[in-house]
Amino acid sequence: MTFAKLGLNQLLLTAIEKANYQSPYPIQIEAIPAFLEGKDLLGIAPTGSGKTASFILPILQILQGKKENKSRNVPVLVLVPTRELASQVAQVADNFSRFLSRRVKTVAVFGGVSINPQMRKMNGTDILIGTPGRLLDLLSKNALSLNQVEILVMDEMDKVLNMGFREEVNQILAEIPKKRQTILFSATMDETLEELISKLLKDPKRISV
Ligand code: AMP
Repeated sequence: MTFAKLGLNQLLLTAIEKANYQSPYPIQIEAIPAFLEGKDLLGIAPTGSGKTASFILPILQILQGKKENKSRNVPVLVLVPTRELASQVAQVADNFSRFLSRRVKTVAVFGGVSINPQMRKMNGTDILIGTPGRLLDLLSKNALSLNQVEILVMDEMDKVLNMGFREEVNQILAEIPKKRQTILFSATMDETLEELISKLLKDPKRISV
């Protein structure tokens, strides 16, 4: 299998080549074409499976077809459990987006650091990656709006719930339109998560690696 067969454009194929990815991992083979078709996805996948690229690459391709963002409305939200993961995902996005013809602004937000610099960075954000608590803080300060989110990615959702962020997640979800594309990743699966999935995802493609 090749990345070209997954439907990614030439600029992204160049970016992938520069990143030294020879061929797609199983999760990427399953996820990328379905993501580009607009389907909801449920990925049961651990860290190290290549899940980050499986959602960042299609997001970048979709953003490339859109006009540059100049508002505080965020089109793509990636919800993560920890600051480390937020930074990691942002780094992957920045690494691939360097090769695109359109400027893509990725911002990572998380607690434990001052909120003011994060507030100042918010305008024109294309991909917002954040932890639940800090996202709520930013929302309460009107630093951003989530009511035009088109793509929602929930990464390491089992960890988000295990860390006790259920209520924060509900509050964030209440701000996001129901009509959107939703991608959820978790390393494990249980009843609580199944219930959440049945509420959040529409006829998702299930991927297990
Ligand atoms: P992740 O599961 O997203 O944390 O990715 C794990 C590691 O695999 C990261 O260091 C990625 O850069 C790397 N990686 C992801 N996809 C590929 C690929 N298709 N070929 C080679 N390395 C990859």
